[in-house]
Amino acid sequence: MQLLKKRILQDGKCFEGGILKVDSFINHQMDPQLMKAIGVEFVRRFAGTKVNKIMTIEASGIAPAIMTGYLLNLPVVFAKKKSPKTIENALSTTVHSFTKDRDYEVVISSDFLTPDDKILFVDDFLAYGNAALGIIDLVKQAGAELVGMGFIIEKEFQNGRKRIEEQGIRVESLAIIEDLSHCQIRIKE
Ligand code: 5GP
Repeated sequence: MQLLKKRILQDGKCFEGGILKVDSFINHQMDPQLMKAIGVEFVRRFAGTKVNKIMTIEASGIAPAIMTGYLLNLPVVFAKKKSPKTIENALSTTVHSFTKDRDYEVVISSDFLTPDDKILFVDDFLAYGNAALGIIDLVKQAGAELVGMGFIIEKEFQNGRKRIEEQGIRVESLAIIEDLSHCQIRIKE
């Protein structure tokens, strides 16, 4: 997706340890026009797959997920990183965050993730794939079907894609970062 790649090269900042900061248009401030274009691209890539619900994880997955859900006229559900006291019929799994270097609990109510659901999962980043594997676990626990996972940015050198594809799940990423070493952002053509 050329528009996205251009924006990453223009406004993305590289941090030590293989972290890409895109706070000016995805993770803190958001660009709705770019988010809409991201939604359109996810719809295009997953055209022909049977989906009845978009799923994401809070917080930064919500914007691309709502755009995709809006365009497809489908409901959007997000997994939570803190279990609210009021949650009913909670399913939960543990995920390791490499950016925060800690484990956290991810929860979703089985009221909104059911055996009838054919899920397209959308998120901001694919790095090592830990969050994605947690989502795969939640979808399995619910007895739902995961038809694909779409990411705005994939950091190829952290190999998350392999771990997801090993589970037989299709992965689509709109911009693939090949390398961030020496704080140079190298994007796949
Ligand atoms: P994973 O579980 O695939 O290792 O990492 C996925 C999550 O970690 C993403 O949802 C994102 O929130 C965060 N993350 C991983 N790498 C980066 C990065 O380079 N930049 C930012 N902003 N977030 C990242």
